[in-house]
Amino acid sequence: MGASHRGVTVWFTGLSGAGKTTIRMAVEKELRSQGCKVEVLDGDIVRQNLTRGLGFSKADRDENIRRIGFVSHLLTRNGVIVLVSAISPYRDIRDEVRHKIGNFIEVYVNAPLEVCEQRDVKGLYEKARAGQIKHFTGIDDPYEPPLNAEVECQTHLHTLEECVAQVLAKLQEADYLTELQTSNV
Ligand code: ADP
Repeated sequence: MGASHRGVTVWFTGLSGAGKTTIRMAVEKELRSQGCKVEVLDGDIVRQNLTRGLGFSKADRDENIRRIGFVSHLLTRNGVIVLVSAISPYRDIRDEVRHKIGNFIEVYVNAPLEVCEQRDVKGLYEKARAGQIKHFTGIDDPYEPPLNAEVECQTHLHTLEECVAQVLAKLQEADYLTELQTSNV
């Protein structure tokens, strides 16, 4: 039997290479080790199935986020801790999803563009600078930072462990990890 806890969506937003996937994976590992029910929606993977065929115009990016938000909502209301990592560059659609889901923690994974570009984890910045990828967030497409994120992880200033601790502390503080009472104990 896993731990019983409230459902919540933890939404990691930020530039490519900021550290969303890295932090999400470490948070996932910790929560699973505590017996939590966890599900993951990773932007790169979702674009290969749930939102396959969508591009990178604002309309398509919004549709991508809306669908991820829809699935996150279903899971959240069924008591799952949903970890979403997606660039999700537009503030209005992030806020729309936040209001639909309700139990929502926005994590702004924030590193300066220069740092992300230097990391260039997937070699995408180089391609974007060379004009081989168009509409690349931070280069020739906008990123609108959250104004009121519950958590901000500055990955150029803090270690991965510190960033993970920030997210877990917020989950704890907002009472999402508290064991639910069962009536037949
Ligand atoms: P994203 O999912 O946002 O595109 P990734 O997680 O794939 O980014 O890549 C982030 C890179 O930054 C990784 O190579 C990771 O090791 C590095 N990194 C350095 N410091 C941190 C930190 N504090 N938190 C997360 N990642 C970090």
